[in-house]
Amino acid sequence: MARLPGFAKLSPTERIEALLKEGLLTWDEAQILKEQKGLPLSIADQLTENVLSTFDLPFSLAPYFLINGRDYVLPMVTEEPSVVAAASFAAKLIQRSGGFTTQVHQRQMIGEIALTDVEDVEVASKRILEDKETLLQLANEAYPSIVKRGGGARDLWVENKGDFLIVYLAVDPKEAMGANMLNTMLEALTDRIQKLSGGQALMAILSNLATRSLVSARCAIDFKVLSRNPEEAIEIAHRMELASQLAQVDPYRAATHNKGIFNGIDALVLATGNDWRAIEAGAHAYAAQSGSYKGLSHWTSQPKEKKLYGEITLPMPVATKGGSIGLNPTVQVSHRLLGEPSAIELAGIIASLGLAQNFAALKALVTTGIQAGHMKLQARSLALLAGAKEEEVPRLVSQLLENKPFNLEKAQTLLQELRKS
Ligand code: NDP
Repeated sequence: MARLPGFAKLSPTERIEALLKEGLLTWDEAQILKEQKGLPLSIADQLTENVLSTFDLPFSLAPYFLINGRDYVLPMVTEEPSVVAAASFAAKLIQRSGGFTTQVHQRQMIGEIALTDVEDVEVASKRILEDKETLLQLANEAYPSIVKRGGGARDLWVENKGDFLIVYLAVDPKEAMGANMLNTMLEALTDRIQKLSGGQALMAILSNLATRSLVSARCAIDFKVLSRNPEEAIEIAHRMELASQLAQVDPYRAATHNKGIFNGIDALVLATGNDWRAIEAGAHAYAAQSGSYKGLSHWTSQPKEKKLYGEITLPMPVATKGGSIGLNPTVQVSHRLLGEPSAIELAGIIASLGLAQNFAALKALVTTGIQAGHMKLQARSLALLAGAKEEEVPRLVSQLLENKPFNLEKAQTLLQELRKS
């Protein structure tokens, strides 16, 4: 079901009114957006150190996402032109092919205690593993509230890597991301683990390589939505498959392939108040797990079925509670727009957006090239940078597009001429 038709052509106020009409926002939430009542300075000053002010970025919406049979509109915080447009475009096409399906494989966070100076690694490992149940219990006693919420320590194992004996702890953090939770539990285990191993703890800390918080998103795109011309559709699907293979064998391409995926993922992670550094670090480490950095998504063309299959799998330990999530009113609006998903649902939504963003980028790259779509947006940015007023922007943009190649100097000259005429 297509929602919010013509959304891109509306003004910001009209878009908020449309969301109100659809029941996606309450009146109070609409006011937060309309009046730009973001993070209050008094709260910002409590969140970090040496605060001077708060910092704004565009808060946008990508409609038309169909995920696991349900319609979603996705809030996105990004300053990069064309990212939101590309996500909406891809979502619309994929919606016509049945949308995305997602799968959360597991939801646990991993932390580690790294030990040095362990004399007998085998004996130490055995003693730690024999004490596993007590250690898990001690971890839970260090953070009882998560146990009450149905989560807590789930697993503990030991690995010998180089000069280190490493004890890993896996915890179900429920709706939280779990960093502080894990760090508290790990520190509570350190003394006992040192005694059991006879070694020295170098550190006890959460790992951002969240291999027990993997999520997959998939889609199966009908060739007919790729192009009205059946032969061209086959060619586009084939070239997208090749583009996906290129990102598996060439790390130079893989980095840019994944950057495109993160254009979407970061924007939604940021909008929902999650720790985007943690998500980036985990996903890039995961992308390099084979020993070579690879693209996170795969596209496969099946001409017999007339379908292009897309898939992405990556760690996505996002939260709906904890951190600064409850403190920023705009972040609260994001969660409302998404329909208050659980952390597991949110992980699937974010992975779907990453796959949509990747689809849009690859389709543009293997057909018209990325610059054609970017030109107009670049011209718009230049017009704004040159100092054009809102009513001057459309004319200056058309003049820039007629006078390629363009740069800031040309935008300034054309603006002066426009004002004289
Ligand atoms: P918090 O320390 O904020 O802990 C989670 C909070 O959420 C707790 O206060 C908990 O309450 C509350 N909560 C409410 N409902 C639920 C629920 N249903 N399930 C779980 N918790 C609930 O956050 P985290 O431990 O998740 O740590 C995340 C923060 O740590 C982020 O801000 C991150 O930036 C930061 N961080 C990240 C690191 C990294 O990535 N390497 C390292 C260090 C910090 P209660 O206590 O009552 O259960």
